[in-house]
Amino acid sequence: MGKAKTFGAKIAHREKKENKCPVCGEAINYVKHYFSEKNNKHNVKYKNKMEAICNCNREDLFG
Ligand SMILES: [Zn+2]
Repeated sequence: MGKAKTFGAKIAHREKKENKCPVCGEAINYVKHYFSEKNNKHNVKYKNKMEAICNCNREDLFG
């Protein structure tokens, strides 16, 4: 069956796709960062943003 074959190939492809930081050479992790944004007193919007984390900014983001 071709179905299982395709699924396995997709996973293998995903694992190979790894970004490395050109500055520190560490693999870059992407983390979803959630934050709220107040437009006015009754309206708070929740947004999320993908943050790229490596050796360069890990201390800035996590302390
Ligand atoms: Zn880096």
